[in-house]
Amino acid sequence: MSVSEELLAIMACPLCRAPLVDRGETLECTGCRVQYPVRDGIPVMLPEEAIPPSTGEGGS
Ligand SMILES: [Zn+2]
Repeated sequence: MSVSEELLAIMACPLCRAPLVDRGETLECTGCRVQYPVRDGIPVMLPEEAIPPSTGEGGS
C-alpha cells in the first residue's frame, strides 16, 4: 500500500522540510535521506519513528 500523490505533495520531512518520495513501504526524505514508515497507507511522520539512512560506509 502506498501513499496518494495528493498526500505526498503536501508532506515534508519534519527534520529538514525537504520533499519526500514514495518508496512503497516507506517515504524517503530527499534531503536528509531518513525514511518514515507507512502504516495502513498513513505515513508516520515522527522523528522518533524515522529510519536512519544506510550510508554503506561499512561502519566502525
Ligand atoms: Zn529530511
